[in-house]
Amino acid sequence: DQPQPKKPSWIRVKAPTSQGYKETRDILRENRLSTVCEEAGCPNVGECWSQGHATMMIMGEICTRGCSFCNVQTGKPNALDVFEPGRVAHAVQTLGLNHVVITSVDRDDLDDGGAEHFAQTIRAIRHRSPSSTIEVLTPDFLKSKPGALEKVVEARPDVFNHNLETVPGLYPTVRPGARYFHSLRLLQRVKELDPAMFTKSGIMVGLGEDRQGVLQVMDDMRAADIDFMTIGQYLQPTPKHHRVDRFVTPEEFASYEKAAFGKGFLMVSATPLTRSSYHAGDDFARLREA
Ligand code: SF4
Ligand code: SF4
Repeated sequence: DQPQPKKPSWIRVKAPTSQGYKETRDILRENRLSTVCEEAGCPNVGECWSQGHATMMIMGEICTRGCSFCNVQTGKPNALDVFEPGRVAHAVQTLGLNHVVITSVDRDDLDDGGAEHFAQTIRAIRHRSPSSTIEVLTPDFLKSKPGALEKVVEARPDVFNHNLETVPGLYPTVRPGARYFHSLRLLQRVKELDPAMFTKSGIMVGLGEDRQGVLQVMDDMRAADIDFMTIGQYLQPTPKHHRVDRFVTPEEFASYEKAAFGKGFLMVSATPLTRSSYHAGDDFARLREA
């Protein structure tokens, strides 16, 4: 095995210590909510939580898939908690979020992949916080019965996000169990069902892809009418996970951002620490004001 490349200075982040961080953590704990911020060991947790931004992860902490970059446990998930949508809505209201991102583990064990649970969560948040904008970051519903995606779209989130994660050539090692063109088609279908809904997707770089591959993903995304794109550096959560092939430089990220805007995305975030939900609310608010 080749040694891992050394973490460059632009990846280092401060430890979370602020009062705002602690308040967010307490509200999440009180409502017994999981977050992808913690599950994924996100490097931005200090910054995001100090501002009350957290990405809540619904439907449990055990996933039916096992992507090689992801730190979430794989196995047989627990039954859905019918009270969870209410607790999420309560936390969103208590945190006073203008924009909330809701994601989940993959639930291939459920007929609808958890679509109805997503829809209930969206409706519960709308009911308690009618002015908050809602972004969902969903699984691919690859093994769900027909109609699952429609259920989520009918609940009218403001942004429908589903990550392609990487270039198609790396799917067998990075995202086994998923299909690149299925994921693209899912997002295209969202736009067909509701042309007013914003669609969003993202990839990680530093997994072994090349620049041409990234530019091709951008073209594929635009062909599927995807509005927003995120690109961030892959970081290995533990030594058992997919290795970091290389650290993409801030200059390369800037060049990806320029290329993506050139291809017509309405919003692009491409920096080493960009994550799917990083500054999602600020970016979305700016777009709505424009
Ligand atoms: Fe959480 Fe997203 Fe912020 Fe990371 S970038 S801490 S996952 S809200
Ligand atoms: Fe992680 Fe999502 Fe893959 Fe499950 S489907 S292993 S939560 S990235």
